[in-house]
Amino acid sequence: MNLARAHVLVGVDDEARLAGADKVLAAFREAIAASNLASEVQVVETGSLGVSGHGVVVAVQPDGVYYAHVTPDDVGAIVEEHLLKGRPVQRLLLPTAAPVARPADVLTRQKRVVLKNCGVIDPERIEEYIATGGYEALGQAVTEMTPEAVIEAVKRSGLRGRGGAGFPTGIKWSAVRTASDPERYVVCNADEGEPGTFKDRLILEGDPHRLLEAMAIAGYAVGAHVGIVYIRGEYQLSIARTERAIRDAEALGILGDRVFDTDFSFRVEVRPGAGAYVCGEETALLESLEGKRGWPRIKPPYPVTCGLWAKPTVVNNVETLANVPDILRLGPGWYRTLGTPTCPGTKVYTILGNVRYPGLVEVEMGTPLRVLVHELGGGLLPGRTLKGVLIGGAAGAFLPPAELDVRLDFDSLAERAAALGSGAVLVMDESACMVDMLSSVLRFFRHESCGQCVPCRSGTDVLVRLISSLQTGTGDRYTLDRMVQIVDAMRAASLCPLGQSVALPVRSALAAFRDEFASHVDGRLCPQCQTTARAHGLSA
Ligand code: SF4
Repeated sequence: MNLARAHVLVGVDDEARLAGADKVLAAFREAIAASNLASEVQVVETGSLGVSGHGVVVAVQPDGVYYAHVTPDDVGAIVEEHLLKGRPVQRLLLPTAAPVARPADVLTRQKRVVLKNCGVIDPERIEEYIATGGYEALGQAVTEMTPEAVIEAVKRSGLRGRGGAGFPTGIKWSAVRTASDPERYVVCNADEGEPGTFKDRLILEGDPHRLLEAMAIAGYAVGAHVGIVYIRGEYQLSIARTERAIRDAEALGILGDRVFDTDFSFRVEVRPGAGAYVCGEETALLESLEGKRGWPRIKPPYPVTCGLWAKPTVVNNVETLANVPDILRLGPGWYRTLGTPTCPGTKVYTILGNVRYPGLVEVEMGTPLRVLVHELGGGLLPGRTLKGVLIGGAAGAFLPPAELDVRLDFDSLAERAAALGSGAVLVMDESACMVDMLSSVLRFFRHESCGQCVPCRSGTDVLVRLISSLQTGTGDRYTLDRMVQIVDAMRAASLCPLGQSVALPVRSALAAFRDEFASHVDGRLCPQCQTTARAHGLSA
């Protein structure tokens, strides 16, 4: 067996594909073969390398060199200069920013558990997943552990659901295990519908076997024999790689009948979602799986006793499940060494907005927001100043720069009336108008409200009309108070988290940027909007 002296990792995710990643990959394979380097340089199609907004990104390892905006025309130079002569091609290097010396340092500053294999292995080769210790935990569970012992290990790890609510995963599994109905299901929620949130997509694109292994472990633990991955329909690459992973695992006897030659059988199927944000709510998702309109159910009963087809059902999101294999393989004690005592483990974030390195990162629970913005995100562009951060996605909280040292875990954020939410971290510089930012959030909620209950259906519409009056300067000094009254009523009376959660962005934005909102009433606009209006030849 030849050991390669270098690996060329081409990040092929949905975003990179639009930038031509498939052509770059083919060009590398052709150029390596033509240069007689095939025995010493391996070209690997991998998932996201963690960097967004820089076109096709290519890493050369073990050199730790990252290239950005690579096109097929650049491949010859990388092969000739870097792989043959050992001289990185300076003009293609991913730009760096203090305090990050090299892009590779962004990776070493992270704690990667869920993302351990993303951007490292070929997600379409089950052998590569197995070589990293993949499927060891499933084998150990079904051959050496009782279902109760698996649940106990997950409970002791302290794993909490990463979908937003932070509910203890082991307790959820235990409730399904002890339900009286013997027909049970495991459902993975991969229906990311929030703007700026794409972590689950990148996990699936980069390491689909990790999810399958976790779902089979969950199935064994709760007594289910069917798992369903509900993936947002636009996530074509996620769907294709997950379906391929299912086929490959079944072919090796790791999924399907008699898993690892035991009496346990577990099948996984993929169902694409039709694109409604509300189907990320677990009961709306179950309705959708049953072929009905994605309307949230009234709870209780909860899915653990009355879920898919009214059967006990575990519903966990991708990131939650992706923690499970390493919890079993390395032990709950190891997992508790990460994060905080009440929020063990890590958290995956998408960093976006006005930072130098938008992308995907994973850090321990309790890491300060400042680390994400100024270190892993590379800080703001030169000459720009931080205005605020929207943490947790559209249903998250606006935080001012003074809150940059807040620790990112469920409990620390709850103390500040904020939430981890979807894990999106949107960084805004001084050019952002907070009224416009909140308007985008409210328009999103109005568009995605399913319309089932009046507080949300009407409330989101009235909120958009109120914020529109602020944007045009036609609102008055009572407009802000009316917005607060409406979101409080929505929080109290809406049927599902979509309507209830609008209060968080509205209240946090008004609390952190009250003066800016106040400058948008009685015919006035904030200085930023005045500048924009003048630039467009409008009277401000
Ligand atoms: Fe539908 Fe909104 Fe009511 Fe949820 S809160 S059920 S999304 S109308």
